[in-house]
Amino acid sequence: MHIDRDRLISDLETLASFSDGTPPGISRLVFAGGDQQARVWLKSQCRDAGLTVREDAVGNMFARWVGAQPQLPAIGTGSHIDAIPHSGKYDGTVGVLGGLEAIRALQQSGFTPQRSIELLLFTSEEPTRFGLGCLGSRMLSGGLKGDADARLKDSGGSTLAELRAAAGFQGSLDQVRLQDGYYAAFVELHIEQGPLLEKEGLPVGIVTSIAAPAALRIAIEGEGGHAGGVLMPDRKDAFCAAAEIVLAVEECARATGAIDTCGTIGKCHIFPGAVNSIPSRVEMDADIRDTDEQRRNRVLGEIEQACARVAAKRNLQVKVSPINADAPATCSPRIIEAMVEAAAENGLAYKKMVSRAYHDSLFMARIAPTGMVFIPCRGGVSHRPDEYSAPQEIENGVKVLAATLAKLSSLES
Ligand SMILES: [Zn+2]
Repeated sequence: MHIDRDRLISDLETLASFSDGTPPGISRLVFAGGDQQARVWLKSQCRDAGLTVREDAVGNMFARWVGAQPQLPAIGTGSHIDAIPHSGKYDGTVGVLGGLEAIRALQQSGFTPQRSIELLLFTSEEPTRFGLGCLGSRMLSGGLKGDADARLKDSGGSTLAELRAAAGFQGSLDQVRLQDGYYAAFVELHIEQGPLLEKEGLPVGIVTSIAAPAALRIAIEGEGGHAGGVLMPDRKDAFCAAAEIVLAVEECARATGAIDTCGTIGKCHIFPGAVNSIPSRVEMDADIRDTDEQRRNRVLGEIEQACARVAAKRNLQVKVSPINADAPATCSPRIIEAMVEAAAENGLAYKKMVSRAYHDSLFMARIAPTGMVFIPCRGGVSHRPDEYSAPQEIENGVKVLAATLAKLSSLES
């Protein structure tokens, strides 16, 4: 089987040219200009490869290579093409265009799939527009109801219903969920977005589980006032309380002793936000992740307790509300085994590893046996313009993906 590396790299460059950002940074906000142009181009690439293309109401795209036994559940592969502002060329796109190249390589090798092989482009894996990640795959797996149409809004106040209609995606969101058994397996190729493969000089990572984030909104209500007028003993400074809570989040995550537990506060608004004004209100979002759901939920509980302690000590209000708490996913042993064989056949060393970032596979794992292949990215850098994977590394990933799809599409069960 021959992977046309030059064609694939040129495809990645073409896709990168559809961007709303200023080069070298890429930006493809879902349903905005770059995303729409990229979708049109990708659909034509899929049709050129003889694939049957359909789209659902939220803009997930399915491009199917019909197998010899089309009545059997299909094998899915794919990822996302939306990109956060000022990001790079490889996050998500390697899984979409690599999936397409894997299909083209299998076709050119004369392979006939028994089960159909279907390439997916998931809508809005990034939370940039609607504040919620994995919009498309979440809906495919039934994790989001039709009321999302009115409930999800972008920063300009436009609803999901308005934005998807303007992008040409019609119909009820309730029809997006895939019926049970639609896929016999789903495999996603992705850059690692971490440093481990590069550090260890390994070309392939085989994912065994995907950590899941939970997010909390923490709202602190204190008392404002003049930075000179209100004396220190009389203060209820919301930001001082926030500082204690930030450190408590770090402490709670570290205290599990498990390397997989992560706690981050990456977003914080201070009101009114003037140098000579005591902060009266602070709003922060905390992100807590783990591969072990129980342990993660324990940490969430400990953070809530810490917030209550800070509130009591400082005599102010702290309100903690969950934004989301997704379950981690375990990859299918059968798919892991197929990927291990695929790597070995191609003479590629691999390691089994945890995905600490979440991906559409997290949601696909709820409705299909799922697996992920990682390739190294330089310095572990992602979500930045200097994100990079070398052509050879991308080719290696596509080889493993193609061989895995071939095996899975021939399996009886
Ligand atoms: Zn991604």
